[in-house]
Amino acid sequence: MSLAKSVCCSLSLACALAAAPPAAIEARIDQLLARMTLDEKIGQMSQGTALGSPVSERSRQQIKEGRWGSYLNTIKFEDRAEAQRIALKESRLGIPLIFGRDVIHGYRTVLPIPLAQAATWDPDLVEQGARVAAREASSVGIHWTFAPMIDIARDPRWGRISEGMGEDPYLASAFAAAMVRGFQGPSLDGAGSVAACAKHYVGYGAVEGGREYNSAWIPEILLRDLYLPPFQAARDAGVATFMSAFEDLNGVPATGNEFTLRQILRGEWHFDGFVVSDYNSVGELVAHGYAADHSDAAFKAVHAGLDMEMGTSDYYDHLKALVEAGKVDVKLIDESVRNILRIKFRLGLFDKPVPASADASALLAPASLEVAKRLAAESAVLLKNEGGALPLAKSIGKLAVIGPLADSARDQMGCWTIDGKSGEVRTFLAAIREKLGADHVLYAPGVKTPRDTSHDGFPAALEAARAADAVVLFIGEDWNMDGEARSRAFLDLPGAQAALVKELAATGKPIIEVMEAGRPLTFQETAAEAKAVLYVWNPGTMGGPAVADLLFGDAVPSGKLTVSFPRTVGQIPIYYAHLNTGRPASPKDLGIPPGTPVNPRGFLSKYIDVDFTPEYPFGFGLSYTTFEYSNLRLSAPAIPLGGKLTVAADVANTGRYEADEVVQLYVRDLFASVSRPVRELKGFRRVRLKPGEKRSVEFTLATADLAFHNTRMQLVTEPGRFQVWIAPDSDHGLQGEFKVTE
Ligand code: BGC
Repeated sequence: MSLAKSVCCSLSLACALAAAPPAAIEARIDQLLARMTLDEKIGQMSQGTALGSPVSERSRQQIKEGRWGSYLNTIKFEDRAEAQRIALKESRLGIPLIFGRDVIHGYRTVLPIPLAQAATWDPDLVEQGARVAAREASSVGIHWTFAPMIDIARDPRWGRISEGMGEDPYLASAFAAAMVRGFQGPSLDGAGSVAACAKHYVGYGAVEGGREYNSAWIPEILLRDLYLPPFQAARDAGVATFMSAFEDLNGVPATGNEFTLRQILRGEWHFDGFVVSDYNSVGELVAHGYAADHSDAAFKAVHAGLDMEMGTSDYYDHLKALVEAGKVDVKLIDESVRNILRIKFRLGLFDKPVPASADASALLAPASLEVAKRLAAESAVLLKNEGGALPLAKSIGKLAVIGPLADSARDQMGCWTIDGKSGEVRTFLAAIREKLGADHVLYAPGVKTPRDTSHDGFPAALEAARAADAVVLFIGEDWNMDGEARSRAFLDLPGAQAALVKELAATGKPIIEVMEAGRPLTFQETAAEAKAVLYVWNPGTMGGPAVADLLFGDAVPSGKLTVSFPRTVGQIPIYYAHLNTGRPASPKDLGIPPGTPVNPRGFLSKYIDVDFTPEYPFGFGLSYTTFEYSNLRLSAPAIPLGGKLTVAADVANTGRYEADEVVQLYVRDLFASVSRPVRELKGFRRVRLKPGEKRSVEFTLATADLAFHNTRMQLVTEPGRFQVWIAPDSDHGLQGEFKVTE
């Protein structure tokens, strides 16, 4: 009998439920719960980490006994299939396992890191990317990805800024929903779908000092207006699971936080999937000083509403005794098990046959590589282009390709790449050689890695530069400098890279800087030496061809920043949607050179040793063409509460290249019962324009879109005066004004 046949429909009752209506699923869960022992229930609430490959004897025995509800980061399809066969066929109740894995930005086809994907401002494309990842992951028996990561981050020192969508809740919400749709597809039990996980719930991006795992203090207004919206958007898009965060939030660790997990997630949002802890975060309640010991940790987490424990085994070790001692009501256990089983039913795990083999054709399919390439091309942000230095002419005689990241497949994939293979990555160097012909390319890395401090490779790099017509320099951070546990206190270029740029600039050859990094870096000095700067993040498997297309004008940069770039670390946190303060500085207060204290000019909210503005603002990104915004139109000067306003402007391509422009809509509430940000993003649209083409771009703004939380935590729109902009970034644009009336 084939493996597929042998495990299909091992539970006849469950077999009828592939597309079962919710009531039928609940009834089936009731029946299972009635038959489950307390040990089996707590087993469902526990995630294993050591399946073994091949599946160990110990794991086989444990799966038969119902010790685990899930496994984390198992490696091989064959092991997952065998473990699932045992769970379905040999365990007492035939409850399937759910296999979770960190498929964060692609499985084998590695997509650009999430912060890069956000810079596309293209939710449809990002959805397609998540679909690619889901198809590949599900083809090898993965049921559940620990993505999307939707922590708002306004601190580039925090290494995990690379995993999220940036600083803005409106944009992050759009991407959260897009990724959930992409991962989960039209239905969870459909082909090519995996369950998504909204993480890390909540407030993790606000860790103090950007120091990993540190505490976060977030006033409830900010929690509700800034940090929660992307999670609510994920929930509204039907996300199957949430992951609780590591940090303590206002003194209560997120993993034991009844307010966020029970009151908001279940009470206010009616989420009916399950919540998994982060790795060891139940056990860490003890280190936080929130639980007396591991039994207390289990007690606090289960009361808070944490359904499944990842890493530590406090649930398995202590919940039974807590129930038997009458300290934990078994109803709480049943509730968590119900949440977990519900998702297993929705995924069709009870019913779908376990495939006999993995579907290799799902990996690195040409259409998937095309999506990866588009994402890489659309996410690159052109920060500088003096005198139209880019694009380079393909007829260039010799091009010097320099830098430690020009030919580094591993770095190109970025953080959280556990399944991508370096051999499958098309590097920048390979793609440039392909485009120009190898004879036209002079390659010398200059330094071996971004962190290399040796100047030994400089002479060869300088020689290449002198012999070339232009230099393309691939510099930045290595992949291991951002992501989890990679906080930095300095954001400048590591190693000898800045020195290399300086020496290269002295050759007088035009320098094109291609920055590869998982976070905003502070690099004004090297940017000043370059004619052009293209920020490509970690662009993944297809980064090479995508960037080569951009460098030579076969594609035009259209990415825009979703995080403000500070001039210096001392400005952090710096974000566009700040409050005005009582003493705002203005453009006439600009011009303070970095690091040079000047005599204080005015008692204003600024610094005496650097400008108060960011180096590059949120929403910023250049193109090879130019766009002109004109003719702002509002459908009415005033709208009543509950009404709608149309805001439109003409956008014209006034340059020579057909290109996309990301048109942005911002508003400012000029006066309210709490101070409101100087600008807030309320809409965006990617439009493609031919040279000379002009188009009207229109947005509809409902008064509900202007809502915020007041001091009583009510979501309100207050009548008053509002400014509105249609803009190319958060710092410019056409400005109008309207009123909201009672
Ligand atoms: C990370 C999560 C990840 C989990 C499982 C943790 O350390 O914070 O984002 O999903 O590990 O690998």
